[in-house]
Amino acid sequence: ELPVINGDFYGMEEKLSAENNTLRLQVREFMEREIAPIVNSYWLRDEFPMAIIPKFAALNIAGYSYHGYGCAGGDSLMEGVIAAEIARVDASVATFFGVHSGLAMGAIYLCGSEEQKQAWLPKMQRFEVLGAFGLTEPEVGSAAAGGLTCTARKTADGWVLNGQKKWIGNSTFSDITIIWARDEHDGEVKGFIVRKENPGFAVEKIKGKMALRIVQNGLITLTDCLVPESDRLQGANSFKDTAKVLQMTRAGVAWMAVGCARGAYENALDYTRQRKQFGKPIASFQLIQNHLVEMLSNLTAMQTLVFRLSELQDAGKLSDEHASLAKVFCSLRTRDIVSKAREVMGGNGILLEYNVARFLADAEAIYSYEGTKEINSLIVGRAITGFSAFV
Ligand code: FAD
Repeated sequence: ELPVINGDFYGMEEKLSAENNTLRLQVREFMEREIAPIVNSYWLRDEFPMAIIPKFAALNIAGYSYHGYGCAGGDSLMEGVIAAEIARVDASVATFFGVHSGLAMGAIYLCGSEEQKQAWLPKMQRFEVLGAFGLTEPEVGSAAAGGLTCTARKTADGWVLNGQKKWIGNSTFSDITIIWARDEHDGEVKGFIVRKENPGFAVEKIKGKMALRIVQNGLITLTDCLVPESDRLQGANSFKDTAKVLQMTRAGVAWMAVGCARGAYENALDYTRQRKQFGKPIASFQLIQNHLVEMLSNLTAMQTLVFRLSELQDAGKLSDEHASLAKVFCSLRTRDIVSKAREVMGGNGILLEYNVARFLADAEAIYSYEGTKEINSLIVGRAITGFSAFV
């Protein structure tokens, strides 16, 4: 009898309660039934499958770890497991979910007033309102903390926003985008809920991506975009508040990287057991086994790391540097795993239909978004040495 293909070698999922494991399997079943069969064609066409959104809503997983506002009030560990299960089938769909549930809902949950949370979170939890998160600008990526050029000017009618935002996931179809802009008066970064129908808000789809092609990234232009004070995030008063959201979502990206690596590893293992050369399954060759074991070692190290990461998060002990280290380590190891998965599949490894080529490309974007390797390393470096190498 053939062994079961399972990328959870140390049985980390045994830590989940029976109820959480049932939910995990529901998410897995949904991804395999609804997403896996369509994902390559949408990836090729560079389109997002809008019809999956109500089905996603039925899983009841948006804002999973938030308390109140229709959210499940679950733990961060399970939230991470959900992200990994989605990414195990497709990293673009996981990114769509991470942007909506983590970045956009998270910004409102962590930085919104009680009224703002009541107004937006229940609808977002049900995917009736879709969210995006606009921090990066055409000329300002890694240097967002000190360098944002998008401006916010307070007037008698509200706030007037001007500037551009680049790479903003979901923004071509989202109902609201959280825009981070610098207050012209006090120089601090503030957050604004900007509605798609606002006449000062325009989005152009970014075309020609070679990774995460299903994610719809936009270039946003804000031209005297008037936002009422009631749509300014009342608890976002400086970049430190933006960073609270990023701390949480970076932990989520580490989990997504784990899912992406697992998907590639499981596909590759399956393939090497079926594929025969020299009259034998290639999985029986020592050099192929060495590749597979290297992949599994890295995957297992990542899994043990993110399980502990979420324990820290649930205990209220997560720091920016914890989240950054996990994001760096997991996105780096994932790049290595997907590349080896491609390698053991030979030529078929670059064909979309064999399901690893997509992970190979997508791992490049995961490696760079939510803070590049260098930036997240510098966050850890600053914490362990006491010296900031940013400026
Ligand atoms: P740059 O900042 O120009 O960096 C280029 C290189 O220089 C990198 O290797 C970087 O590490 C290095 N570098 C920069 N500064 C230093 C330094 N001090 N020391 C050493 N090396 C340094 N942003 C959003 O706001 N919302 C989104 O929804 C969103 N989605 C995205 C989706 C995708 C697919 C991608 C690719 C990006 C997305 N981003 C989003 C933007 C993303 O967060 C940025 O791409 C990322 O922060 C890096 O910025 P940059 O691309 O401008 O690179």
